[in-house]
Amino acid sequence: MADQIVLRNVTKIFTTKTLGDITAVDNFNISVHEGECFSFLGPSGCGKSTTLRMIAGFEDLTNGEIELCGKLVSSSSKKLYIPPEERGLGMVFQAFAVWPHMNVFDNVAFPLKIKKVNKSEIKKRVDEALKHTSLTGLENVYPGELSGGQQQRIALARAIVTNPKVMLLDEPLSNLDPKLRETMRFEIKALQKKFGFTIIFVTHDQSEAMAISDRMMVCDMGKIMQIDTPENLYNKPNSRFVHNFLGESTFINVTVKDSAVYPKGSNQTIGIDIPKGVRGDMVVATRPNEIELAKSAESGGFRTFIQKRIFLTDRTEYLVPVGEQLVKIQTPHRVRFDENESCYVRFVEPIWYPADDEKEQAERNRRQLI
Ligand code: ADP
Repeated sequence: MADQIVLRNVTKIFTTKTLGDITAVDNFNISVHEGECFSFLGPSGCGKSTTLRMIAGFEDLTNGEIELCGKLVSSSSKKLYIPPEERGLGMVFQAFAVWPHMNVFDNVAFPLKIKKVNKSEIKKRVDEALKHTSLTGLENVYPGELSGGQQQRIALARAIVTNPKVMLLDEPLSNLDPKLRETMRFEIKALQKKFGFTIIFVTHDQSEAMAISDRMMVCDMGKIMQIDTPENLYNKPNSRFVHNFLGESTFINVTVKDSAVYPKGSNQTIGIDIPKGVRGDMVVATRPNEIELAKSAESGGFRTFIQKRIFLTDRTEYLVPVGEQLVKIQTPHRVRFDENESCYVRFVEPIWYPADDEKEQAERNRRQLI
C-alpha cells in the first residue's frame, strides 16, 4: 500500500510571551496509507490540531517536511509551502461551519466555483455529492433551517465535491448528539468506501476514534506516544498514559521485594508473575472488567472484602480495598457478592509500568495553563 500522507521529523514550536516556548509538535514521523482511516487522539493541547493544520497548509513547520500523495507540500529547509487550496484536500473542521447566507447548493458548489469549474459540471457534481449525503431536494434551503446532522452533511458534501484523495476531519461530530454521531460515523465510512479517500480524523473521544479508525496515533504534550490499531492500543499499550487514555484503567501502586509483590499499605502479597529485573516501587495496570472476583482461595488471589456494591444496568460494580487503594471491579450481574462479604481478587496478566513521575505532572499542568 502506498503512503499517502507522510510526515518526516515534523516539529512546531510556538513562542509565547508569558510562558516561553511551547513545543506543540515534537518530531512527528507518521505514514498514513492510501484508503486508511487514521485518527489523531489525545487530550486537549497534545498537538492534534496543530498537526492537522500543518498538513492542511494553514501553519508552517519549525522543522521537517510533509508529503501528500507523493508530492512535497511543506518543507522547512526548502522554505516550501504549497497553499491549502492547491493541496487537493477535503476538509471538515469543527470551526469551519457552513455559510448561513448561502443555500445548500451554493455551500456545496463553493469549492468548485473557486476553481472556476463550468456551470453544468458544477451542477452535475453538486447533485452527486448531495445524493451521497442524503441532501437531495434541499438545494434551495438555508442551513439555519436544517438540523445539526444535516448541516454537518452539507460540510461533508462540500468536502467530497472536489473528489479529494485525502480528507481531513477535525472533531466533525462534536456538536451532534450521541445517536446522530454514531449514524454519521457510518455515513463517513460509507462515503470513504464509495470514494476511496484517505481520512485523517481528529478527536478527543476515544470510543469514537476506536470505532472509526484502522490505526490511531495517541499523543500527549506534543509527543507521539504510540501508533497502532485500536485493538493493539487497548490490549498492548506501551505506556501508562496510553493505558489510561483508552478505556477504563485500574492502577495499583506496588512494591516488589524478595520476589513478591506488595500493594502499598499491605503485608499481603498479590500473586502475579514479576517480569525480569523489576523491583522497587512500580504500578501494576489492569482493567475493571479483567479482574477476577472469587469466593474462595482456590484460584489464588488477594484476600479482601466487598466495601461497596453498585448495581448498574449492564453490570455490577464492586469496590474492594487492595492495600491502601480502593479498586473497582466490573462483573456480569450473575457474579453475586454482598457488601462486607470476604472475597479474593486476582489480577490476570497485568501490565507493569514505572511508578508515578512528578516532573511529568508539572509539565502537564504548565501546558494546561496556556
Ligand atoms: P489539540 O488540538 O491537541 O488540543 P493544539 O494542537 O491545539 O492541541 O495545541 C498544542 C499546543 O500548542 C498547546 O499547548 C497550545 O496551547 C499550543 N498552541 C497552539 N496554537 C498556538 C498558537 N497559535 N500560539 C501559541 N501556542 C499555541
